[in-house]
Amino acid sequence: MRSNKVVVGIPTGNNKPHASLDLISHEFSHSFADVAGDLEYTVESDEIIMEGCADIWAAVIDASVPELNKNIWQIGDEVMTTTGTCIRDLADPDNPDAETQIIDCYSEFLASEESDPHVKGGLISHWFYLLSEGRRNKL
Ligand SMILES: [Zn+2]
Repeated sequence: MRSNKVVVGIPTGNNKPHASLDLISHEFSHSFADVAGDLEYTVESDEIIMEGCADIWAAVIDASVPELNKNIWQIGDEVMTTTGTCIRDLADPDNPDAETQIIDCYSEFLASEESDPHVKGGLISHWFYLLSEGRRNKL
């Protein structure tokens, strides 16, 4: 089912209203994936692809604005009430200060019963981090 709206600005838990560039970029990228990729948010594999790509898009948009002077790999760090925290960390998937730890390797992905597509999407977004920074994943 396609949606014709982007919802931002709803504070939850430890978050300020969601209105940072990376989060808005993340949400807008869902519309690209929905239309260009013909992905459906009701299909688990599509959800995972969409969330992983949306976090990549958020990092790319943050990187395009160096004046932000921020860690582009941390999603949602600007809306957190505690300094040093973020919603997801593409560079450090197990970051204990992140609200959500993401999956970063295929064996973990296959073994996981996680239902949150943001978590499993980490397989895609962390891969992009490794590719961009020229790093290797943990074994
Ligand atoms: Zn999303």
